[in-house]
Amino acid sequence: MKNLNFYDAIVIGSGISGGWAAMELCKKGLKTLLLERGRDVKHIQDYPTANLNPWDFELGFNNTLKDQENDPIQSMAYTPADKHFYVSDKDQPYVQEKPFNWFRGYQVGGRSLLWGRQCYRLSDLDFEANLKEGVAIDWPIRYKDIASWYSYVESFIGVSGKHENLSQLPDGEFLPPFELNCIEEHLADSILKTEENRLLTPARVANLTKGWDNRGPCQNRNLCTRGCPFGGYFSSNSSTIPSAMATGNLTLRPFSIVVELIYDEQEQKAKGVKVIDSVSNEVHLFYANIIFINASTIPTTALLLNSVSSRFPNGFGNDSGQVGHNLMDHHSSAGAFGMHDSFKNQYYKGRRPCGFLIPRYRNLNNNENLGFSRGYNIQGRGQRQEWVDLSSSNGYGSQFKKEITTPGKWMVWMAGWGECLPYFENRVSLVPDKVDKWGQKLIAIDFEFKDNERKMMDDIKDTATEMLIKAGFNNIDSFNYNKPGGSTVHEMGTARMGNDPKTSVLNRFNQMHSVKNVFITDGSCMTSSGCQNPSLTYMALTARACDYAVKQLKLGNL
Ligand SMILES: Cc1cc2nc3c(=O)[nH]c(=O)nc-3n(C[C@H](O)[C@H](O)[C@H](O)COP(=O)(O)OP(=O)(O)OC[C@H]3O[C@@H](n4cnc5c(N)ncnc54)[C@H](O)[C@@H]3O)c2cc1C
Ligand code: SF4
Repeated sequence: MKNLNFYDAIVIGSGISGGWAAMELCKKGLKTLLLERGRDVKHIQDYPTANLNPWDFELGFNNTLKDQENDPIQSMAYTPADKHFYVSDKDQPYVQEKPFNWFRGYQVGGRSLLWGRQCYRLSDLDFEANLKEGVAIDWPIRYKDIASWYSYVESFIGVSGKHENLSQLPDGEFLPPFELNCIEEHLADSILKTEENRLLTPARVANLTKGWDNRGPCQNRNLCTRGCPFGGYFSSNSSTIPSAMATGNLTLRPFSIVVELIYDEQEQKAKGVKVIDSVSNEVHLFYANIIFINASTIPTTALLLNSVSSRFPNGFGNDSGQVGHNLMDHHSSAGAFGMHDSFKNQYYKGRRPCGFLIPRYRNLNNNENLGFSRGYNIQGRGQRQEWVDLSSSNGYGSQFKKEITTPGKWMVWMAGWGECLPYFENRVSLVPDKVDKWGQKLIAIDFEFKDNERKMMDDIKDTATEMLIKAGFNNIDSFNYNKPGGSTVHEMGTARMGNDPKTSVLNRFNQMHSVKNVFITDGSCMTSSGCQNPSLTYMALTARACDYAVKQLKLGNL
């Protein structure tokens, strides 16, 4: 019986990083079991809303009161068009010790179906910051260690973007960029003329501006979160999982909640995992030579904390006591928007699935005495107000008709995506006396932004407003929504990489210091957060770790 459940490798979680782990391991010849707690979602056939029109939804894009009651967190992110790709908070609750918006997609593909597809490389400004500032611990890698892996990933997923030759935001292997519209070009010109160290560039996104590896191109529909029948954006479902399947080495098992890692005291290795079938509630054991954990930061942490043994009484691989700590999420609450009176004779066609980026311009060399360390990039978009913006107006007759069929002014909205420092006390833990419907301890999240992040938010408001003023915008409004942690959906840091096993969980190859055949390559491995959207880095680290793991396996070291 045991042989039936034995594989060369097990990958836990089929989202952005797990899809990559499965593909790389399968391509290297390993018989790989991909365990996913959610249901299966097949590319194209399981995108039920992909081609629906706005009027096909009974309530338009509004959620019901029941949605808000059942899913107080997820309903802030979903609409009836993509609700089926989010979990239900009522069905799968968690505990917020402080407010934390934890947005989750439990299905084959995870949140790769839902992500905003922004792809940015970290640089040595990010990898060296902890060491230079004496914050937390040093990253065990530098940009040179990961640069070729970024290229490897970009060349597979397809990232559109423009080369800018910036040290703080390295260029990549880009497809042609999406075009800026006239108001964005105007703002870009103004920034070049009036600001030092700043420029505006088209967002770098995993949306295909040309056909790529049997996918795409993107049709500019901006309906990505429903799943894309053209494969116009990167998801596990459209890319990595089919490629893994094509090798003949992949076994995909949906409805499989991994609840425990099994430790072999004698061999001092992980020998397998314990799984609860979420439909039948049956318990299964699966065994493998190596295990990649890619359940996403918070579930990965919960799995480690839940896997206790006499060797690891505080959680699997937790000799350092760092598992669960140092939780980070970018903040993206602060920014500004404004109107412009020009360009009334210009418009655009289609719905581009991205906007623009103003790469980080604060604290680029040394600390600039701004009252905060690190920095932020600005993400935004320009658009022309349409008749819908006037739809609440009262009126009748030809004048009213003219008003609601004439496009309004051009506007630009932008906000800062800011770095969050790793604070030991921001953490994930398990609640001993509360369980979910499968009898598993509930996850508790205790997180808050602190002074450094708050000061950065003030600076974002100020600089965003200044850039709009200098470019001649009017009716400018600066904002800080003070959204709680989790809102940017970039959770990371709870099983960090480092050189010293006493202060970190993973080594420079994402391998557990204390259990050599276990690798973690989702966001929990991050030693600091940078301000760049992180999924590209998770993918690059995953490909790099798979390469290392298979070589070590072949050498007989695992
Ligand atoms: C609306 C939105 C916009 C975003 N925009 C961007 C963006 O522009 N750029 C960017 O870089 N990032 C973005 N993100 C974040 C991005 O989606 C995540 O960083 C990324 O998906 C993380 O990858 P992952 O593999 O760690 O986890 P996920 O993609 O979340 O996948 C984890 C998988 O593990 C499964 N799983 C969990 N627990 C278990 C278990 N115990 N057993 C088995 N399976 C388990 C889950 O069901 C899931 O399928 C966005 C996210 C959202 C929701
Ligand atoms: S915008 Fe592009 S990638 Fe997104 S759903 Fe449309 S065609 Fe697909």
